[in-house]
Formats: sequence, C-alpha cells, structure tokens
Amino acid sequence: MEIILTGTGTPIPDANRAGPSTLVKAGETQILVDAGRGVVMRLAGALTGAPALDAVLITHLHSDHVCALNDIITTHWVMSQESATLKIFGPVGTEEFVRRQMHALEPDIGYRIEHHDFLERGPQLEVTDLEAGDSFSVNDVHVSTAATEHSPVKPTIGFRLEHDGSTAALAGDTLPCDGVDELARDADAYVQTVLRRDILEQIPIQGIQDILDYHSGVVEAAQTASRVGAKRLVLTHMVPAPQPTDYPDWIARAAAHFDGEVVIGDDLTSVTI
Ligand SMILES: [Zn+2]
Ligand SMILES: [Zn+2]
Repeated sequence: MEIILTGTGTPIPDANRAGPSTLVKAGETQILVDAGRGVVMRLAGALTGAPALDAVLITHLHSDHVCALNDIITTHWVMSQESATLKIFGPVGTEEFVRRQMHALEPDIGYRIEHHDFLERGPQLEVTDLEAGDSFSVNDVHVSTAATEHSPVKPTIGFRLEHDGSTAALAGDTLPCDGVDELARDADAYVQTVLRRDILEQIPIQGIQDILDYHSGVVEAAQTASRVGAKRLVLTHMVPAPQPTDYPDWIARAAAHFDGEVVIGDDLTSVTI
C-alpha cells in the first residue's frame, strides 16, 4: 500500500501546498480521501488522474476538503469518456452536496455533450451517505469508518483501509477521540491533520484561536499514535504551514510522545507500508 499526500495544505492559500487530500494506492486500487484545492493537479504529479480513481472518500463537508470535488467529477467524466462510474462515499449530507454540485455543473455538462460525439450523457456517479461504523469494500480494499470529533462540524467520519495485510487510518480533521483510536489501532500508518498549539496560541487573531478547539495538535496526534500502537504517524494539513527547515522541529515534538516513525513533508510525499 502506498500513501501519497496529494495535498498537505489547509484553507489558508499556499503557493506550494494543495488543499487537503490523500491518495491511497492498494494493489491495483486507487482511493482518494478528500478533494481539496488543486487535487487534480497533484494527481497528475502522482502520475495518475481522476479516471483512475476507484473511489473518493470524504471525511466531512468543510470546503477545504471538498472544494475540488467538482473538478474530480468533471475530469473523471470527460477523461474516462463517460463510460466509468465514479463512486463517492462520505458522511450523511454528501449525496445532497453532490446533487447541488451537479446542478452547478449543468451548463458545462450541456456544452460538452453538445460538442463531443463521444459524450451522450452526464457524469455517472454512485454516491453513498455513510453512518459512522459502516464498512464496505472497494475492490479488494476493506474500508471501515468511525465517528470523529470536529464539532460543530457534524457528521464527520474517518476511514481505516485494509489491504493485503496492511492498514492505513485516515482520520481527517478531528480532536483525539474513541473513533480515531479505533481507526488507528495497530495501523501501519495513521494519517492525521494537525496544528501546532504552541505557535497558534501566541497569535491574537480570533479566527486562529477558534480552530484550536476542533483539531488535533501534533502532540495529541503523537499521543494517539502511541496509545493505539500505530507504527507510523503521518502529519498533514499542517497549521501553520511549515517550511522544510521546520520539519525536524515538528518531528521532534511528535517523537517526544511516540516511538514510531513520524512523516512530514511537501505535497507528494509518499509512504509505503
Ligand atoms: Zn474541517
Ligand atoms: Zn480542514
């Protein structure tokens, strides 16, 4: 299984970090978790593309995690020449979100069907609203879910992907909670969106202070990884966005609480488990 950080950014625009998304390649299966800003560009950087995706999993409907879903839908549709169905799974509300996206895309869909002989119908989508605790398969990848804690954003879910003896947990935006523990227990890689409390607490801007109460800090993510026996902690969606020269400091703060490998990096950093 290979985990590629296709977007390590956040809502804060960054010239070098796409919005949150993570690509998991498991055997022949490719699964994208979240679809943040610029994801289609990063999929090209990962030498793949929207038509190759077997499923898109959404952790929650915060804009930074879904704002490029329309790009995935359109690119998948046109580049697969309408033959393939795109599967999208997310928390309750995802079906309605996608329905509204499709409404917004109606003019474009009409233009392309009129212009291209190979397009006779619009994007073929199979969208599934999930309850926390649901599990399902995407080809030979087993996917299980659990509730995460990102209140007032509700519902939110994280994913545990198992394939060929390897396990990856992708928790999304969340505080430490029982659901994350369940997802990340004994995982080969636990991917967590994180912030640095020690830095953000010093910034007297209300919008920054507001986010402290619904994200995991680096220390908390490391404590979770340690508590549940994860083998690797993969940091993403870092706030504030670090420079590469800051990476050793971020790693050291996690390593003080977790003995396993800690991964942090630029977009397209990959981890093989
Ligand atoms: Zn969020
Ligand atoms: Zn986010």
